[in-house]
Amino acid sequence: MSAAARVFAGPLRYVQGPGVLDRLGELLAPFGARPFVVTDPVVRSMLGSRLEQSLAAAGLKPVFGTLDGEITYAAVEVLLGVLDGEVADVVVGVGGGKALDAAKAVALRTGLPVVTVPSIASNDSPASGAVAMYDEAHVMISVDRLPRHPAIVLVDTELIARAPADFLRAGIGDAISKKFEADGCWAGTGAIPVGGRPLRTGRAIADACYRTIRAHGVAALEACAQDRVTDDLEAVVEAVILMSGLGFENGGLSLAHALTRGLVRARGAATAAHGRHVAWGLLVQLAAEGRPDDELLDLIRFLHSLDLPTNLGELGMANPTSVEIEAIGELTMTAPHVLNLAVPIDAASVAAAIDRVETLAARR
Ligand SMILES: [Zn+2]
Repeated sequence: MSAAARVFAGPLRYVQGPGVLDRLGELLAPFGARPFVVTDPVVRSMLGSRLEQSLAAAGLKPVFGTLDGEITYAAVEVLLGVLDGEVADVVVGVGGGKALDAAKAVALRTGLPVVTVPSIASNDSPASGAVAMYDEAHVMISVDRLPRHPAIVLVDTELIARAPADFLRAGIGDAISKKFEADGCWAGTGAIPVGGRPLRTGRAIADACYRTIRAHGVAALEACAQDRVTDDLEAVVEAVILMSGLGFENGGLSLAHALTRGLVRARGAATAAHGRHVAWGLLVQLAAEGRPDDELLDLIRFLHSLDLPTNLGELGMANPTSVEIEAIGELTMTAPHVLNLAVPIDAASVAAAIDRVETLAARR
């Protein structure tokens, strides 16, 4: 693809609302009678009979596969073995990130369309064409890409509301950066995840994602903590799954996500949720861009109101040393997204930006 080509890609259909899980059978019927449904053990025991009912009511004869453990290439082979050479019409992932990635990986191997049904909203992947693959030690080894996005993304907000609020909190952290990352990509020279340079559309969606979270984020987390589906929760789930997914794939990623390269190896912070890494990473991006203190303090206070991290201590790295901060800067520079910024950066300027955020967060 030429450097000048601008691209937009996304799922064919997105359905969101309380109780929409019971419409799964009706939505799958046009694909054919034999869906291959991939879940994790928790979802299988929690929702298995409800899924069977919905599919049977639509006259479907599903095959069920369960992903137990990490989403590895070996685990995908085990799932393909469940099909035992029989033909399926569509692959359906129901559950958390691993089950959805497993369904996408099966779709990648078989060429079948894929439908994603997230049971939590902890990141931007359900609507995306990305497939995160790991090894047995939970180290990410590859991000594969589907040639076609999910055919349907089905989001039952009752499931999201009933799940622990920390999942939605992490999803907000992963989503809140997208506006600034898309702005960085627009100003910079790098590529967007679907390939090529961004159109205006991806950036506009990322901007709407940010405004939705600012307006509804706090109330949505309150609703989620009480297992209630409210308009605020609906708005934020749409921002976290649909707008964030479309926003990053079509608007591009930038320094906020590049910093996760360092954080996944950082003392204490390595095991924090991806969305918590990204929320803090956004502050560092704004600092690296030379934004005024007031703008950073405004966002620091907002992240604090959501109980998202604003310094390394809150990410799990108490009393970071300058050597540790420099190491985060070095690893950050290995991410391709560092080209997606209005200002050129290097490991030293990233470390200086981290120091600036540590100082400002203390003034909160
Ligand atoms: Zn992310």
